[in-house]
Amino acid sequence: EVAVEMPTQTRVFTVSNQKGGVGKTTTAVNLAAALAGVGARVLVIDLDPQGNASTALGVPHTADTPSVYDVLIDEFPLADIVQQSPESENLFCAPSTIHLAGAEIELVSQVAREHRLRTALDDYLASDDHRMDFVIIDCPPSLGLLTINAFTAASEVLIPIQCEYYALEGLSQLLGSVRMIQRHLNTGLHVSTIMLTMYDGRTRLAQQVAEEVRAHFPKEVLRTVIPRSVRVSEAPSFGQTVIAYDGQSAGAVAYREAAVEIIQRGTKEKES
Ligand code: ADP
Ligand code: MG
Repeated sequence: EVAVEMPTQTRVFTVSNQKGGVGKTTTAVNLAAALAGVGARVLVIDLDPQGNASTALGVPHTADTPSVYDVLIDEFPLADIVQQSPESENLFCAPSTIHLAGAEIELVSQVAREHRLRTALDDYLASDDHRMDFVIIDCPPSLGLLTINAFTAASEVLIPIQCEYYALEGLSQLLGSVRMIQRHLNTGLHVSTIMLTMYDGRTRLAQQVAEEVRAHFPKEVLRTVIPRSVRVSEAPSFGQTVIAYDGQSAGAVAYREAAVEIIQRGTKEKES
């Protein structure tokens, strides 16, 4: 067991990459479960209408489930929709439902449309009953109003990068969006963490991509790399994270190492 020190202030991550299928949801839920496993209290906010994060955390999210949609559009308190994941008493989820697919358009005509999530989260975290060490927001694969709500609510951006061709493609657009948010909506936002995912060390290409990303972002890229692993991809169909599904698998071990690295970096950042 590694001794880890929890953050003194809630660290709010948004897991973003406008590319689909790069491991955003997988990273959000498995990192959250790994953090909960070392004693952190963690809330996952599922902002993707697909609801894959809610599924992986074993949380019901049928059309009649109170969800992030009700928070963003009808100003429900987050406390009314947050559920505990059956995996851990430290792990919570604000589920998404299919209604969220319409929210992107419905938000356009709303007052304070970019700040809806931030306001709801600030209210939620203000209560002692809802103390969280980490909040992890799973974003849809676009840079629309749902993702902008996540950027506005977060302090840190976590970018998962798949170690394949075109890994860096689209990244400058994402970084441009982050800069725009910093200027206009959230000065506290920064890209703190880049995580290499679905890494297959047997291929020269994966090694080259990893080297290239590390050369571009020496401070941000985690030492820990998440390997491609069948156990990781199987876990959601059992309504589980890989931490619960097969805690000894390479994927579970890697996500636990990444969790510890993220906690320790936070402590260092605070000291420097
Ligand atoms: P995104 O949320 O960015 O669209 P997902 O997290 O849903 O991406 O991942 C896309 C697909 O890749 C899913 O089928 C998922 O199970 C699979 N996947 C993600 N990470 C891994 C991994 N480390 N090993 C194997 N499969 C993975
Ligand atoms: Mg996803």
